[in-house]
Amino acid sequence: MDLELSDEQKLIVDTVRKFVRNEIVPLEADLDPDGSELDPADHDRLVAQVKQMGFYGLDIPVAYGGPDVDIVTRTLMAIEMAQHRAGLYTPCYGVFGGAGLAQLFEANEDQKQRYLYPTLRGEKHGFFGLTEPSGGSDPARAIKTSAVKDGDDWVINGGKIFISGADKADYGIVFARTDSSKGREGITCFLVDADAPGFHVRRVVHTLRSTSYATELQFDNLRVSAANVLGEVNRGFGIANDRLSRQRIPYAAGCIGVAVKAQEMAISYANQRETFGDILASRQAIQWMIVDNEIDIRTSTWLTLAAAHKANRNESFRTEAAMAKLVASEAGGRVVDRAMQIHGGYGMTKDLPLERWYREIRIRRVGEGPSEVQRLIMARDLLGGSFH
Ligand SMILES: Cc1cc2nc3c(=O)[nH]c(=O)nc-3n(C[C@H](O)[C@H](O)[C@H](O)COP(=O)(O)OP(=O)(O)OC[C@H]3O[C@@H](n4cnc5c(N)ncnc54)[C@H](O)[C@@H]3O)c2cc1C
Repeated sequence: MDLELSDEQKLIVDTVRKFVRNEIVPLEADLDPDGSELDPADHDRLVAQVKQMGFYGLDIPVAYGGPDVDIVTRTLMAIEMAQHRAGLYTPCYGVFGGAGLAQLFEANEDQKQRYLYPTLRGEKHGFFGLTEPSGGSDPARAIKTSAVKDGDDWVINGGKIFISGADKADYGIVFARTDSSKGREGITCFLVDADAPGFHVRRVVHTLRSTSYATELQFDNLRVSAANVLGEVNRGFGIANDRLSRQRIPYAAGCIGVAVKAQEMAISYANQRETFGDILASRQAIQWMIVDNEIDIRTSTWLTLAAAHKANRNESFRTEAAMAKLVASEAGGRVVDRAMQIHGGYGMTKDLPLERWYREIRIRRVGEGPSEVQRLIMARDLLGGSFH
C-alpha cells in the first residue's frame, strides 16, 4: 500500500482543513457548546461555497450529478471534517452533502424517482432501521418485526430502537422478517413512508450525544406496497451487511479527526502551561501521554486508510473495516481522555470541545456494531482463512 498522498490529495486535504478552521470553527463560538445546527443563512452560504469548491455530495456517483470522490480521498477529507466541536455528531454540519442512504443506488427506477432523487436534492431525509429491542449485534436472529403479504401489500408489525434521525425523516429503510423459518435468508428490506398510517415514533431516546437523536419506532399494521421492497424478498440481510461494512470506514475517520485535533490541543497546552516552575511538556509523564496519543492516531489512520485502499480496489475489505472501526473508536477515546487530563480543570469544562468529544466518541464503540462484534467478524475471517 502506498501511504504517500498524491499532490491532488494533499491539496484537497489542505483545502478542507482551511475550510474547517476558517469557516466552521469561528461559527461555533456563537453556538451553544452542545449545539448541532448552524443558523440557516450560514448553512446555505457554506453549502454554496462547498458546491463552488466542487466537493458537494462527495460519495454521489458522476451519473447522479456528484463528484464521486474515491473512498481513500473521502477518508482523508472525513478526518479533516471532524475537527470541530460538533465534528463527531454533524461533521461540518452536513454542508458537504452526500448520498445518505447509499443503498438507494441499488433501487429500481421507480424507487429512485420517489426516494433517491429527492434525497439527493435535499428534499427528503431517510433513516436506517435495523436494530430492535431484542438486539442489534445479531440482527439475523434478533429481528422480530414481521412483514406478511396481503394482496399487493405487505403488512408490517413490530418496532425498532436507537434509530438515528427517524423523528425528522420522511422515509426509512426498514428490515423485517418475511420468512420466520429462516435466519438471515428470511429478512426483507422495505422503503417505508414516515407519514403512513401505523408508523409511530414512540419516543426520542436520550443518549450521550449532545443532541437527542435516536428514536424508538413502532409499526402497527403498517401497509407497504410490494413496489417498496428494496432488492429481492428474503435478501435484505445482504443490504444491511454491505451498508454496515461501508459505513465503518468514515465512522473510523471521524474518530481519528477528533483525536488529531485533541492531540494538537494537548501539545499546544503542554508547551505553554507552567507548573512547579517549568512547562508541562518538560515532564516525562506528560511526554508519554503525547507519545501514546501519537501511536494511537497513527495506528488508527494507517488501518483506516488500508481498509479504504482495499475498498477502492473493489477487493473484500470487511475484516479491514472492522479492524479500523474497532481501533479508531477505542484509540480515539483514549486520546481525548489523555488530552483532557493534560488540560486539567479546563479539560472538564464546556469551554473546550474535549468534554463533548469524550461523551460522543464513547458511542462509537457501540454504534455501527460494537467492538465485540468487530472482533467476532475478524475472528470468523481469520479462523476461516478468508483474511490474508
Ligand atoms: C446513538 C446511537 C445511534 C444508533 N443509530 C442506529 C441507527 O440509525 N440504525 C440502527 O439500525 N441502529 C442504530 N443504533 C444501534 C446500534 O447499532 C446497536 O446498539 C448495536 O448494534 C448493538 O446492539 P444492542 O444495543 O442491541 O446490543 P446487544 O446486541 O444486546 O449487545 C450488548 C453487548 O453485548 C456484546 N455482545 C453481543 N454479542 C456478543 C458476543 N457474541 N460476544 C461478546 N460480546 C457480545 C455487544 O458488543 C454489546 O456490548 C444506534 C445506537 C446508538 C447508541
